[in-house]
Amino acid sequence: MAKSKYEYVKQFEMEQQILPESWFVVRLDGQGFSKFTTAHKFQKPNDKRALDLMNSCASEIMLKVPDIVLAYGQSDEYSFVFSKKSKYFTRRSSVTSSQFASAYVFNWSKYFPDVPLLYAPSFDARIAIYPTDRHLRDYLCWRQADCHINNLYNTCFWELVKSGVSNKQAEIDLCKTVSSEKNELLFSKFGINYNAIDEIYRKGSVLIRKVEYFNVTTPDGSAGKRVKNSIQILHCDIIRDKFWSEHNILDL
Ligand code: ATP
Ligand code: ATP
Ligand code: MG
Ligand code: MG
Ligand code: MG
Ligand code: MG
Ligand code: MG
Repeated sequence: MAKSKYEYVKQFEMEQQILPESWFVVRLDGQGFSKFTTAHKFQKPNDKRALDLMNSCASEIMLKVPDIVLAYGQSDEYSFVFSKKSKYFTRRSSVTSSQFASAYVFNWSKYFPDVPLLYAPSFDARIAIYPTDRHLRDYLCWRQADCHINNLYNTCFWELVKSGVSNKQAEIDLCKTVSSEKNELLFSKFGINYNAIDEIYRKGSVLIRKVEYFNVTTPDGSAGKRVKNSIQILHCDIIRDKFWSEHNILDL
């Protein structure tokens, strides 16, 4: 490669070092999605098409980046959990948000065939390093609890608004209520059993890897195995132990 006298400026680049044997998480979040979802007339409180689009973008990234062991998504955000063994901290983490945004635009028309994309959405990325498995699990608990709190609130808010209450009044009605009161409001006023609402809205989406082996006959006639890697999308609880004992994510 040709050298130039200007090359010394390369030394000014800053390489961030990853703490070895630690989890790192990249969380993307849509920028200004309150406005974006209004501009594109998303159904409220939850537009399923948008969640499916988010999940397809995240699955694409997981298939491209083998270091990601799990991803968790809700609303306009996605968290990618990178293996403790991952060495690609700086490069992978900074490229994730652009991979996600370009996949979002590229796949938009598949999920919103009748809605023109009015402008290019963008996603910010934050990185956190978690030294222990407990920290990582607490991080994911935090995001799933956030999903629950927001979804319960938004479900109440939009039911009130759809029943004729003004946005301002709905906000006032809800601001001092606790979870049990919101559940009761949904049930007594709107006949909705919150726990019967689809899990994708209440729990968010958990992406894990699925590896399948198929028996095949190779061209020379001997028996062989073919590996198929895919991504499984779950809408389950990740706060309790059950999920973690069923999937050996923490050993990856
Ligand atoms: P910004 O407006 O800077 O983009 P945000 O409001 O989108 O920030 P994030 O930093 O992406 O928030 O954090 C995600 C969630 O954490 C949000 O639901 C937010 O309400 C909550 N949050 C933000 N800051 C804190 C904090 N210091 N402690 C606890 N929760 C927080
Ligand atoms: P910021 O740039 O700080 O993240 P924001 O406007 O994106 O600002 P968030 O706290 O990230 O603020 O909130 C995301 C907004 O997008 C919320 O209003 C949420 O209801 C909406 N939203 C996200 N996904 C959907 C969806 N699938 N259906 C309907 N609304 C959605
Ligand atoms: Mg934000
Ligand atoms: Mg946002
Ligand atoms: Mg904000
Ligand atoms: Mg958000
Ligand atoms: Mg280059």
